[in-house]
Amino acid sequence: MKKHNFSAGPCILPQSVLEKASRAVINFDNLDLSLIEISHRSKSFINVMERSQDLALEHLGLQNKGYKALFLQGGASLEFLMVAYNLLEKKAGYLDTGTWSDKAIKEAKLFGEVDVVASSKDTNYNQIPKDFTVPSGLDYFHLTSNNTIFGTQINNFPEVDCPLICDMSSDIFSRVLDFSKFDLIYAGAQKNMGPAGTTLIVVKEDILGKVSRVIPSMLDYKVHLSKDSMFNTPAVFPVYVSMLTLEWLKEMGGVANMEKNNNKKAALLYSEIDRNPLFKGFVANKEDRSKMNATFTLQNEEYKETFDTMWTAAGINGLGGHRSVGGYRASMYNALPIESVQILVDVMQELEKKVLEVK
Ligand SMILES: *Cc1c(COP(=O)(O)O)cnc(C)c1O
Repeated sequence: MKKHNFSAGPCILPQSVLEKASRAVINFDNLDLSLIEISHRSKSFINVMERSQDLALEHLGLQNKGYKALFLQGGASLEFLMVAYNLLEKKAGYLDTGTWSDKAIKEAKLFGEVDVVASSKDTNYNQIPKDFTVPSGLDYFHLTSNNTIFGTQINNFPEVDCPLICDMSSDIFSRVLDFSKFDLIYAGAQKNMGPAGTTLIVVKEDILGKVSRVIPSMLDYKVHLSKDSMFNTPAVFPVYVSMLTLEWLKEMGGVANMEKNNNKKAALLYSEIDRNPLFKGFVANKEDRSKMNATFTLQNEEYKETFDTMWTAAGINGLGGHRSVGGYRASMYNALPIESVQILVDVMQELEKKVLEVK
């Protein structure tokens, strides 16, 4: 039986998507050829790329608003530097909410001045900084909407008078936002969209072409836009699987419906974390809790071995916390059914019973 997969990334994808993808590896589009052995310039694959881009924009409500979608390679990590390469002339602002923001800041510093407007580093990133104002006149302001490692998520995005850039790797397509507030959104596919190997970039075209430096072709958003993500050979399989996931999302009622499911899953798990005396949440304020990645620990490490044996026996996978946080992290991406969350909650309750019996 399929495991209950709480892995943080790469992570769970819809079963129907995996099945379709596996068939396409053998025979794609009735061509009697594999998806991964045909030209990326064939009509069949160009359709895949176009459909993926259209679906991404459609799900974000950004069609016909001056935005384009790209499927590039190099992961979200390459976007840390591409954003700065393409947009940072003098000074950019960053909100530091975790390891990924910190890495983005490090890359940006190679290209210009960086103003870290606020940071929660002092408290090991267990909250989202709130009391800050973004200065005016920045080249752009960058934030990370969901902090995959620490389990925090931004709910209120600041007002800015410059382009707003967001790393949405781990919560894209998970909730409804006014995405037109953002000028560039990027997301590595492997958290909520597809396999590792491609990155979705959604960019408002008019913010580009303003820096004075020469940008190498492979790092230039304008080059990729002019070639519709086909400047070089795209990651054909990850793009195809992303397309299937975006189609699945549509069948499931789109982002709005997904948000409802994600709210239910998160409420189920967090209420158990709060109720069960054996556990405590990692995040300082409830309003900063991520609906995608719930971080928590045992109050007493003494029960670790028992709990680990129990959840493993229940068919749960990928519950270990990141090394910088410890404890546990339950990643509840779009494709994770609420039944899996219920299994985890059941195991937490069984542990409580067991501990009470011993006492
Ligand atoms: C996983 C992750 C990254 C890094 O993605 P790669 O594709 O491995 O480069 C960046 N930002 C966030 C928020 C992530 O969750």
